[in-house]
Amino acid sequence: MFRYTFAVIDKGAIAHNVDAIRRRLAPTTKLMIAVKANGYGHGAVEVAKSAIRGGAVAFAVAIIEEGVELRAAGIERPILVLGAVTAPGLAVAAREKLAVTYTDTWGDIANIPVLQNPVQVHVKVDTGMNRLGLRTGEAVLRVVRAILHRPDMHFAGLYTHLACADEPNSPHTQRQIKRFDAVVRALVQAGIELPCLHVANSGGALQDYQYQMVRVGISAYGYSPNPEIDFALVLYPALHLYSMITRVAAVPAGEVIGYGATYKADRPLRVATIPVGYADGYPRVLSNRGYVIIHGQRAPIVGRICMDQFMVDVTDIPGVQSGEVATLYGNEAPADWTAAAFDERSHTSQIQLISETFIRHGIGVNTLSLHEVAKLANTISYELMCAISSRVPRIYL
Ligand SMILES: *Cc1c(COP(=O)(O)O)cnc(C)c1O
Repeated sequence: MFRYTFAVIDKGAIAHNVDAIRRRLAPTTKLMIAVKANGYGHGAVEVAKSAIRGGAVAFAVAIIEEGVELRAAGIERPILVLGAVTAPGLAVAAREKLAVTYTDTWGDIANIPVLQNPVQVHVKVDTGMNRLGLRTGEAVLRVVRAILHRPDMHFAGLYTHLACADEPNSPHTQRQIKRFDAVVRALVQAGIELPCLHVANSGGALQDYQYQMVRVGISAYGYSPNPEIDFALVLYPALHLYSMITRVAAVPAGEVIGYGATYKADRPLRVATIPVGYADGYPRVLSNRGYVIIHGQRAPIVGRICMDQFMVDVTDIPGVQSGEVATLYGNEAPADWTAAAFDERSHTSQIQLISETFIRHGIGVNTLSLHEVAKLANTISYELMCAISSRVPRIYL
């Protein structure tokens, strides 16, 4: 590691979270873990392996390429591609044993060239998300019959996606479930053998809309789909972001800080520079709004977030020195993670230091959760996780 910024990913937390969710489910319900978008930024392959330890039996991705990556890494469990798949992509899905979701752009299913290997197809019902899927029972029946007609396609699943599953007792969810059940009844009445039925994301799974399988994402990474609700489940956030101060300097009263001179010092300040920017996926909207944790205290961001760096006000935190660690979100960093300690170690020994001193299980009283940072950035934890760019080293514990 030749930079002073890294993400720590606690694989044990992922295994714990998956196991905790699995214990909530009926023994017959399959637990599929969503590892799309590089495992919500955590690293899809590492997440998948940890999730298997916690009892995951299948994985969901958004695009074929994400499924191919998992197969190349030796993940052999069932994988479902949730998003649209091109017609030529079907051959790749078949070869790599990736289940796909029926996609409207395919046109007449009967005209798709014969595939070398059979492919599993899940049919999505649009029950009120108005994003993807077939809207009526008749449309579903037509597509299912066309799939059943082909020896190279297997009708493997029927599913829908809930728009408000993170809200308890949502009337919209109840309406979606009703519509889904009506489509299921239409298939039964038409004498079609039912495939795997699944509707729930994390919110749905925690509210017990189980059917035969649930598709859990955010909760596997340690976050409640709705932090305002107590789902009576202990989850540990897996992702933590740290950086080390590269300079501490005095800024005289009246000086301005950063691009656009958007912050003016109204008193003499001590300002620390953090080598993280929007190119690392740290949102620029946190300019003059966000915080980092240094010495267990909040240091407010001053001035604009740059591409690779930003500045924080440490005037009220005594004794802050360059080289000291800052927690951007997650469990508070131990004080012995300093630039000097990292500089004198090999890469392996840096990782050893991190893994031996990482504060497990729970956010310290004075630290910052990703959820809170996301709120300050007017977004949700999901977006900030996915945003962490490839140039941020991930240290797996
Ligand atoms: C991403 C996704 C999920 C997982 O959602 P979470 O809210 O992260 O649990 C489930 N189903 C579909 C269709 C998705 O796209």
